[in-house]
Amino acid sequence: MPYGDGIERVNCFSLTDFHDFECCPFRFFVKHHLGKKYEIEESSEAMALGILLDLAIKKFHTSKAYGQPPTYLANLVMAAFNEIGDKVAKNPGASFYSGILPFLTDELVAKATEIFQSYYSAFDFKIKQSFGEVGFCEWIIQTEDLPAGRQGGRQFKLWGGPDCFELGEDGIPEIVDYKSREDVEKGKDNMDMDLMPKMYTLLCCKKLLELGYKQARFVVRFWQDPLEDSFYEEFDLADVSSLEQIFRQKIDRIMNTIEIKFCDSSYCRGCKHADREKFLYELEKHGIRYLKGDVEGFVAVPNIV
Ligand code: SF4
Repeated sequence: MPYGDGIERVNCFSLTDFHDFECCPFRFFVKHHLGKKYEIEESSEAMALGILLDLAIKKFHTSKAYGQPPTYLANLVMAAFNEIGDKVAKNPGASFYSGILPFLTDELVAKATEIFQSYYSAFDFKIKQSFGEVGFCEWIIQTEDLPAGRQGGRQFKLWGGPDCFELGEDGIPEIVDYKSREDVEKGKDNMDMDLMPKMYTLLCCKKLLELGYKQARFVVRFWQDPLEDSFYEEFDLADVSSLEQIFRQKIDRIMNTIEIKFCDSSYCRGCKHADREKFLYELEKHGIRYLKGDVEGFVAVPNIV
């Protein structure tokens, strides 16, 4: 269904969508094109912890809790916990929050509080202040024509957003995404410092320009390693055409992929799902076919001419 701007849902992409496509096009197409994201997504306690912490830091900024004692943070984590519960109660179907609900125990709330307090104390109880809420961000992209018979138009949208805007000590606005990683070193090794900084900067660009900023710094902060400060990249907001071009090419690649293969290991919910055959049938309506063959490791075949 198109939103107010007429761009179909199938033509809107989040950062997770691009990661999903690189990881497994079949799973991506089922989640993205068929709208089965929550049916095949796997939740975990680690995911629930990260979401709880991210909501808590947003509440820290919006309630301007700067200077509060560390014990106060328990209120913010509890407020985040209650918000998730309220959202699931209001929307009982499969949703972003419903999958993590079973992991939201008292123990996890206590763990999140402890991590937040430890993070806060590492900065001597002085977290950089926010200069505004991120809200939901989007960026419209024009691409080349689609192959004949494919659904969708030529206008696409990037959407989503980082966790917070915080003001750097040098006055440069920081586009911040918080990450919770049990194994923080492994988390750093696997951190996407290629696509993520570009995507979130592009998404926040208009808002920051409207606020009068011409430069921005994208920053990753690690809940379990507060003093790690090397995960950042700076951008000139006046010219983001090269960033847009990267996503235009990625969208072209996705929209030109017409054949998929499987890794055949059936290890994840995508292939284990009872409706797998139905998904394949539905994908055919989108012009995407299952290419038979026993290739090890899954392969997506782009229709590049
Ligand atoms: S089992 Fe392999 S091909 Fe199937 S959805 Fe998972 S990653 Fe993709």
